[in-house]
Amino acid sequence: MSGLPHTIADDIKQVLLSAEAIEERVAELGRRVSADYAGKDVLLVCVLKGAMVFMADLIRHITIPVGIDTMAVTSYGAATVSSGVVRIVKDLDSPIAGKHVLIVEDIVDSGLTLNYLRTYLANRKPASVKVCTLLDKPERREAPVTPDYCGFEIPNLFVVGYGLDYQERYRNLPFVGIPHDYVWAKDSSQDIPDSTLQEV
Ligand code: 5GP
Repeated sequence: MSGLPHTIADDIKQVLLSAEAIEERVAELGRRVSADYAGKDVLLVCVLKGAMVFMADLIRHITIPVGIDTMAVTSYGAATVSSGVVRIVKDLDSPIAGKHVLIVEDIVDSGLTLNYLRTYLANRKPASVKVCTLLDKPERREAPVTPDYCGFEIPNLFVVGYGLDYQERYRNLPFVGIPHDYVWAKDSSQDIPDSTLQEV
């Protein structure tokens, strides 16, 4: 025992994406968005809360004028597996008609949440709706969603950090990692995310 207080990083079994790797990739995505949307009326829509860290870093690598807005959604059903039935907890603050909307997401898993959101926003007659996600788990896709911009494709594992949580913890880790097994065991009343059942 070191005597030092237990940190959230101590709960991580494996770092999947280091802070440095994320920083480099987010800068690259920022450059691409800046080039692709130059001269357009762009609105970046951050999907709370998971995408807030990614959004905060991404916009500082975008060099063209952009507007920002936020939405918050919850998925009905089990805590860690998307049901595809989405409830809008917070809607956009302003109209999007005629704007080029870029949805900024933390992770696309089944794709059900994003599929719903994309259709929901497309109904408001924006000039375009595209998706920028930090992480993509293509193995688990159930809805036909292909992100237009993607930071990293990852295997079918439940990850935390850089905005992503497990029971509201670990969002403030500067990297993306996989928690130790004891993290799931701590609260047996909750579902264990099914992607953790795989061997790492
Ligand atoms: P989908 O509808 O694509 O299945 O679910 C997307 C949402 O599920 C994400 O925005 C995120 O909140 C949650 N999610 C999916 N996979 C993970 C994961 O590996 N870690 C965390 N923390 N959340 C995840």
